[in-house]
Amino acid sequence: MTDGNPLPTAIIGAGLAGLSTALALTASGLPVTLFDKGRGPGGRLSARRAGDWRFDHGGQFVTVRDVGFRRVMDGLLSDGHAALWNGPIVRLNPDGSREPHPVERFVGTPGMNGIIQGLIARLPDDARPRFGIRIASIAGMKGQWRLVMEDGTSEGPFAKLVLAMPSVQAADLLRPVAPALAARAQTVVMAPCWALMLGFDQPVSLPWQAAFVAGAGDDDRPLSWIAHDGAKPDRGNRASFVAHAAPAWSIRHLEETADQVAACLLPAFRAATGITVEPAFLSAHRWRYALPTVPLADGFLWDRGLGIGACGDWCLDARAEAAFVSGARLAAAMGGG
Ligand SMILES: Cc1cc2nc3c(=O)[nH]c(=O)nc-3n(C[C@H](O)[C@H](O)[C@H](O)COP(=O)(O)OP(=O)(O)OC[C@H]3O[C@@H](n4cnc5c(N)ncnc54)[C@H](O)[C@@H]3O)c2cc1C
Repeated sequence: MTDGNPLPTAIIGAGLAGLSTALALTASGLPVTLFDKGRGPGGRLSARRAGDWRFDHGGQFVTVRDVGFRRVMDGLLSDGHAALWNGPIVRLNPDGSREPHPVERFVGTPGMNGIIQGLIARLPDDARPRFGIRIASIAGMKGQWRLVMEDGTSEGPFAKLVLAMPSVQAADLLRPVAPALAARAQTVVMAPCWALMLGFDQPVSLPWQAAFVAGAGDDDRPLSWIAHDGAKPDRGNRASFVAHAAPAWSIRHLEETADQVAACLLPAFRAATGITVEPAFLSAHRWRYALPTVPLADGFLWDRGLGIGACGDWCLDARAEAAFVSGARLAAAMGGG
């Protein structure tokens, strides 16, 4: 069924939310065209290489509560795109003590973007995302939408549009064509996160594989999370680490350069881990829109009259699973899934 309209739905953003929508729509026989500005698959579940080191500099692991997402993760586990990460993972207290933090956690393999690659592999060939294409604006009209690329060229027409990207970017694209949806998206607050990546030439041993770094009362801690990325399943146990700056610290240092931030965060990493060896690789990445601190409760946005919707973690909860669930719920409202 194509609703009497043979035109495809364009999905902008091929992260978890966009792929979830695409999987549900194509499973119902509805054609989709997926665009993503990234160089490769991942979105906020990206992985980065530097020499022999690999880093999951965005999402660290996924947790599962939803039955549909559990089914998807089980499939990814059985075809080797994901693995259970048993840790040990701890909470580091301000007084230096630590306590176990055991929760069922999954990671993509061999990097977090393995999850994204596994989902792309489940799409029909003609629905697979095209990367390196940034949509600059939306043109056209209801039932005949066109997408304008950065270089001024356009593609379309599309029957429907799905915006599957952080709320701020979705609001910018929606404003001229769907102001009411843009206004909803604009109410969401997304916090930034600076991610520190460290690679060591020699093996480094710690009593834990990852740690939530707890803050004291007024929470001025620089770091909130440290992971020995190389110790995650299927990473070859390389001495690669990722540390995330706490939200308040990230906001205070948002406009600094990556080099300045890396230099500032290194002492905090050393204090928390006791690793004093000089890193052979040190870099920082800024996630300007990392996680929603004030998400919507709606699950998704959908204007049936216009045929425009939006989905993502920011429509539900600050977790990767929420992005997948949001995409699936939007697809169901659109008549797929
Ligand atoms: C530092 C960090 C740590 C995190 N840790 C965890 C964690 O441990 N556990 C957890 O569950 N979640 C975690 N998350 C959250 C998780 O990564 C997200 O909830 C999830 O990946 C969001 O998926 P999404 O599809 O909604 O958005 P995204 O993954 O952001 O996908 C949006 C896509 O849209 C594309 N795009 C944007 N604008 C355009 C445009 N104009 N044209 C074309 N393409 C465009 C982007 O390239 C991107 O691929 C973390 C996130 C960050 C940043």
